[in-house]
Amino acid sequence: DPPAGSLVDMVEEAVSRFRRHTALQFFGETTSYAELGDQISRAAEGLRRLGVNKGDRVAIVLPNCPQHVVAFYAVLRLGAVIVEHNPLYTARELRHQFEDHGARVVIAWDKVAGTITDFPADLPLDAVISVDVTRAMPFGTRVALRLPIPRARASRRALTTGSAVRGTSSWSSLLSHGNLRRKHPRPEGSDLALLQYTSGTTGTPKGVMLSHTNLLANAAQGRAWVPGLSEGSEVFYAVLPLFHAYGMTLCLTFAMSIGATVVLFPKFDVDLVLSAFAKTPATFLPAVPPIYEALARTAEHRKVDLSGIRFAISGAMSLPVSIVERWESATGGLLVEGYGMTETSPVALGNPMGPSRRPSTVGVPFPSTEIRVVDPEDPTIDRGFGDAGELLVRGPQVFSGYWKRPAETAAALIGDGWLRTGDIVEVSDDGFVTVVDRLKELIVTGGFNVSPTEVELALMGHPDVREAAVVGMPRESGGEDVAAAVVMNDGASFDQNALRDFCRKGLTAYKIPRRIVQVDDLPRSLIGKVLRKDVKERMLES
Ligand code: ATP
Ligand code: MG
Repeated sequence: DPPAGSLVDMVEEAVSRFRRHTALQFFGETTSYAELGDQISRAAEGLRRLGVNKGDRVAIVLPNCPQHVVAFYAVLRLGAVIVEHNPLYTARELRHQFEDHGARVVIAWDKVAGTITDFPADLPLDAVISVDVTRAMPFGTRVALRLPIPRARASRRALTTGSAVRGTSSWSSLLSHGNLRRKHPRPEGSDLALLQYTSGTTGTPKGVMLSHTNLLANAAQGRAWVPGLSEGSEVFYAVLPLFHAYGMTLCLTFAMSIGATVVLFPKFDVDLVLSAFAKTPATFLPAVPPIYEALARTAEHRKVDLSGIRFAISGAMSLPVSIVERWESATGGLLVEGYGMTETSPVALGNPMGPSRRPSTVGVPFPSTEIRVVDPEDPTIDRGFGDAGELLVRGPQVFSGYWKRPAETAAALIGDGWLRTGDIVEVSDDGFVTVVDRLKELIVTGGFNVSPTEVELALMGHPDVREAAVVGMPRESGGEDVAAAVVMNDGASFDQNALRDFCRKGLTAYKIPRRIVQVDDLPRSLIGKVLRKDVKERMLES
């Protein structure tokens, strides 16, 4: 059965069970569960006075910081809907999202509040609450992190634009009105909790509608999946951005449902993580492959003991076996891979958290999750085991649709609760799933499909190649040519023909890249995914 109640009930239960336990840690500042509960209720009262009602969207544009967590649960308390944004988005990208969701109130990093205040008058935006995020950070840290500051600077003023008066106020004044009345109406499980934008890896980010029940279900599935979790004493490191589905659900909903301490990092930085580790070691680290690689490398060099991390889980992109080996030999702990998407709140599959985990696979379906592998041309036709096909997922964590995008919703939710993931997978006899590639990124060359990942792995097998991205370049005669951009290791020389010869050892002729170019780095999303569509654009331009 899907879990009863709402995320508000969940967090209030945590607040009453773990009162004196530390909920949040941000540099020197700690917040207990009791204090968190109080601040949530005050922020909710402040938002109510600004006119926030059930069903309204409230935008959050913040890096990881304690106010982010308070704002998250305060919005939910009113039955309103959270819309998270990447605070490093340009004014243009943010404005597109605001046009899409129409939030009237926004809680924003003071560095971007001015940009938002200056949005055109036709956006129905009434109030901008500006948050001084760096206040708690030691000056040296601010400099060391070189927190990128968006181009437009904050303008602290109330703007009169057309007929709308857009007011800017501060976080402390939001919290100054006392607590919300206990009897204020509460959200229900089926209510919308979050409008969470996808990463935009393959196109414009889409607003994914997730209910309280969707998110509670994924937290419950997570608790059932991880053996030996200890309530009230786990320490989660929030190094992933809370505005992305992965960091948000692991570190806000899952972690808080077990009364964990969440250590917040405004940005991933090896030194920052290691110095936090010396004081409050992490027991649970949700991260992505580049982060594990960087931490393992530093732990090796500096002989740092990271063995306190009992649960290291990787997702969002494929995890190379070489990184698993490196992490496990450096820390003595296991690194396991899972799979998910914003549309599945976000986890759908995971490896067992134990010795039976299988590197290079994303594991098996989460509890109460079903999967099918189908013909991408006709998803009513099931493929047999061992045959690659498109992955379908069904479970209580599957979203209800894309915000204002009926055509995309109908294409993704194909009836009976089944979601088309758009990912091509293979399933082993004993049920372990391997992600082959995204359907949209398969390269069609002369009637054959080429998996860009397979070619990338072949290139990265060369000792001089650090990273590779493979894309299909349109051919005038129709179809595509396989092309690659590679980042070479420091000091290594680039020779296109030598790399092609190397590929011939492992790949059939039609998979060999026709063109290979050398680049300094690959374009990545903020969570670290290689953006093949941007690689392709750059190659088309050059
Ligand atoms: P958009 O939908 O806007 O193009 P996106 O799909 O990258 O962006 P997310 O919802 O953040 O947005 O990511 C989900 C996708 O990430 C999955 O569909 C899958 O392609 C990829 N993914 C997640 N986990 C893994 C994994 N362990 N291995 C390989 N790919 C993964
Ligand atoms: Mg997607």
